[in-house]
Amino acid sequence: MNTAFDNALNQINRAAELANIDAQVLAKLLVPMNEVKIDIPVTMDDGSEKTFEGFRVQHNNWRGPFKGGIRYHQQVDIHEVKALATWMTFKCAVAGIPMGGGKGGVLVNPKELSVTELEKLTRGWARGMKDVIGPEIDVPAPDVNTSPREMAWIADEFGHPAVVTGKPIEAGGSAGRGAATATGGYYVLDTLIDRLHLEPEMRSAVIQGFGNAGRIMATLLHRHGWKIIAVSDSRGGIYNPLGLDVEALEAHKDATRTVQDFEGAENISNEELLELECGLLVPAALENQITKENAASIKARVILELANGPTTPEADDILRERGIEVIPDILANSGGVTVSYYEWDQNMKGEVWTEEQVDDKLRKAMTEAADAVWEQKEKYNTDFRRAAFVLALERLQESAPKE
Ligand code: NAD
Repeated sequence: MNTAFDNALNQINRAAELANIDAQVLAKLLVPMNEVKIDIPVTMDDGSEKTFEGFRVQHNNWRGPFKGGIRYHQQVDIHEVKALATWMTFKCAVAGIPMGGGKGGVLVNPKELSVTELEKLTRGWARGMKDVIGPEIDVPAPDVNTSPREMAWIADEFGHPAVVTGKPIEAGGSAGRGAATATGGYYVLDTLIDRLHLEPEMRSAVIQGFGNAGRIMATLLHRHGWKIIAVSDSRGGIYNPLGLDVEALEAHKDATRTVQDFEGAENISNEELLELECGLLVPAALENQITKENAASIKARVILELANGPTTPEADDILRERGIEVIPDILANSGGVTVSYYEWDQNMKGEVWTEEQVDDKLRKAMTEAADAVWEQKEKYNTDFRRAAFVLALERLQESAPKE
C-alpha cells in the first residue's frame, strides 16, 4: 500500500507533467527540507515514566515561514507527517498566503492521557522543538486531536504568541480561526457551485468526521439550506435520508461523545456512509478513505475534501472517469491556514481584527483561490486536483531562490 507521502509525490508529479516546471525546482519540492524527530519523556499521573515520539517536518519555506498543524494520533508516522507537510506548502501557495509548509505529530492516543499528562507532553514537544520553531521560522497550529488549549501551552512554553496559531482569543488567537476551515470550504463551494451544476434539488450532504472541520461544515451547510443526510465519527455513522436535525445532533454528540444512536437515524458504518447517494460528500476525518477499493461505489456528485489526503491517486482516476468532481484538500480546506496566517499577522503587528474583518478577508481569499484553480482547470482541461497543484507549482517556482 502506498503511503500518504507516496500519494503526495504522485499528485505533484502528475501536475508537473502539465505545466512548465523547471526540473531542479520540481526535484526540490519532492523532498522536505528538514525532518526532526524527538523523544518526549513524560512523568505520568501514576508516577511512571513514559517516552513519546514527536515529529516536525519542514517541507519548504520559499514563500514564508513553515506552517502547519500538530497531530496527536496513535498512527502518526514520519510518512504521514511528510505528506501533510508537503500538502501545506502547496496549500499555502494555492491560498496565496506568504507561508511555507510544515507539519508535526506525536505518536499517542490522547484519549488515554489525563489533561495534566497532555500538558506535560505538549510542553515537552515545544521544548524539544524550541530550536526549529519560531515566529519567523516555523509556526505550528492545531490538527487532529489538538486544539487551542495545546496551542496556548506551546505559546506559553516558547514565550511568544506568534510561535503558534489557533490559540484561544485570550492568548492572542484570532476571531474566526475555530470555524475557518469549514467556513473557507463553504466559500470555495459557494464560488464553484454553479460551475459544478449542484442545483438546489441536489443539495444533500454526507459528512465523514464530526470534529472541528466536519461538525462546523454540517452546521454551515444546514444553515444554507442543505439537507445533511449522514455524518460519522470514529465510532461509526448515522443516516436519515430525510435529513438530520443538526442542532439536536450537536447536543447529542456533546452529551454522548458520539453521533451514533441518534434518535430517528439509522446507525451505519463509515464504509457504508462513503457510498451513500448524495450531492456532496465531505471527507473531514483522515487520509486514505476513498481508495481504489471503494471509488467505483461512490455515489456523490461532488467531493469536497476538508480532510487532508482523503482520496488516493488511484481513486482520483476512477472518480474522474465516472464524472465525479473532487475539490482537493489544498483548495477546499485552505481556509484554516489562511486565518492562521491572519492570526500570525495580527500577533506580529500587535493588531486585533474583528470577526467581520477576518471573515471578509477569508471570503475574498477563498473566492480568489477557487477562481484561480478554475482558470487552470479550464486552461489545461484537467481535474481540480491537477489544476490546484499546477497553480501552486507555478507560484512556488516564482519564489524559488535564483541560483
Ligand atoms: P478533529 O480531531 O477535530 O476531528 C476529527 C473527526 O474525525 C472526529 O470526529 C473523529 O471522531 C473523526 N474520525 C476519526 N477517525 C475516523 C474514521 N475512521 N471515520 C470517521 N470519522 C473518523 O480534527 P479536525 O481538525 O476536524 O481535522 C479533520 C481533518 O481535517 C484532518 O484531515 C485535518 O488534517 C483536516 N484539516 C483540519 C484543519 C483545522 O483547522 N482543524 C485544517 C485543515 C485540514
